[in-house]
Amino acid sequence: MAGRTSIVQPVAQARQMPKEGFLPRAPLRLDPELYEKLCNQVLQRDGWRCQACGATSNLEIHHKEFRSQSGHDSEANLITLCATCHTGVHHG
Ligand SMILES: [Zn+2]
Ligand SMILES: [Zn+2]
Repeated sequence: MAGRTSIVQPVAQARQMPKEGFLPRAPLRLDPELYEKLCNQVLQRDGWRCQACGATSNLEIHHKEFRSQSGHDSEANLITLCATCHTGVHHG
């Protein structure tokens, strides 16, 4: 029995001004689990069909707006595409 060694970190200190350049930001990506959920929502919304050609296999989720251009991981910004159409979108 080691007992409980209470190694209490000085929380207050940790919450002090973060170093510059270390500001907490919104995560670039959602939690993988949440993202998967979101993908499923999108797939369901789109009826599990590619929204370009109607294919029902090799479905992927495409971001209508790139994340770097204020694209958000939100349902409204996502669309179901099959692998073929998805590649087409990205590579013209
Ligand atoms: Zn397609
Ligand atoms: Zn895409």
